[in-house]
Amino acid sequence: SLILAFETSCDETSVAVIRDGRKVLANEVATQIKSHQRFGGVVPEVASRHHIEQITICLEQALQTAQVDYADLSAVAVTYGPGLVGSLLVGVTAAKTVAWAHHLPLLPVNHIAGHIYAAQFVQPIKFPAMALVVSGGHTELVWMPAENQFEIIGETRDDAVGETYDKVGRTMGLAYPAGPQVDQLAQQGQDTFAFPRAMQDEAGYDFSFSGLKSSFINRVHHAEQVHEQLSQVDLAASFQAAAVDVLVDKTVRALHEYPAQQLILAGGVAANHELRQRLASAVANQVRLVMAPAQFCGDNAAMIGAAGWMLEKHQVRADLDLNANPSLEFERIQLKKH
Ligand code: ATP
Ligand code: MG
Ligand code: FE
Repeated sequence: SLILAFETSCDETSVAVIRDGRKVLANEVATQIKSHQRFGGVVPEVASRHHIEQITICLEQALQTAQVDYADLSAVAVTYGPGLVGSLLVGVTAAKTVAWAHHLPLLPVNHIAGHIYAAQFVQPIKFPAMALVVSGGHTELVWMPAENQFEIIGETRDDAVGETYDKVGRTMGLAYPAGPQVDQLAQQGQDTFAFPRAMQDEAGYDFSFSGLKSSFINRVHHAEQVHEQLSQVDLAASFQAAAVDVLVDKTVRALHEYPAQQLILAGGVAANHELRQRLASAVANQVRLVMAPAQFCGDNAAMIGAAGWMLEKHQVRADLDLNANPSLEFERIQLKKH
């Protein structure tokens, strides 16, 4: 199997070539972060224009890096949702064009399934598996009874954890996306602010981060008003401790109820140092934890190729009328009574 994969759901244009689902022959990623920084977040119109400019360049570069030709390919995989519709459409159109021109099967990949399948670059996924997905737009616990089955057992009721990192960082004057910088600062500070751990002790597996975000912003604004100097590193460490506490606690609890062979940590925030360490020690005696290498945590086409390989094996394919689906989501399942 040799899969050409496209990812354009947000602000990274990426094209990859993957052999047998696990070997990355090329993974070109063109990020647009600089263009969005002055707006403090992703501007959809700007994003889709950048994708249009970058997609052919990334495609040619990926094929060249991988040293393969269209004739060598077995399929084309593409993210068709969730994400920004104007961005998704660029990748979907590119993938359909290649599939049509070279008579290749088209594999429709859910972006979040892609984040989860980045785990395959470490080792093959064993089922049943549990995934903690933490990204810019999602925070959810996903139960996977078998391959290609995804059931949400809990999710955020308001903000995603990555989005919260970015907003909190913005309040501290950090550039978008602030997650990695907050992570760095937090490593030098201490948890001194006692920010709230929302829903930590509640039954079920839902999360909430808007209260944490508000407490953080209120605390910083109050300090500004009374000209109080706050320690940036302690602020970052306190925010991060609150966020990581809830994520780790809920995941550990879910593993008591669901007999997972593996726990997968996925999504952009999976690159976070404290989350990786704390989760690893918390589940050490419970389950095998698989974390994608940091370079495959953020958006990239390699992970889309890995998930596409699974679809190829299961003979799931899309027709050439495949459309982008900006609000594509896994199904939420009914929980047992607690
Ligand atoms: P989604 O995958 O839900 O559609 P997205 O694709 O925009 O959203 P990702 O690219 O998966 O999100 O992740 C980006 C997010 O990860 C940003 O919010 C960024 O700040 C955050 N992030 C990246 N590295 C770190 C880190 N080390 N610590 C905390 N957050 C991080
Ligand atoms: Mg991004
Ligand atoms: Fe993502």
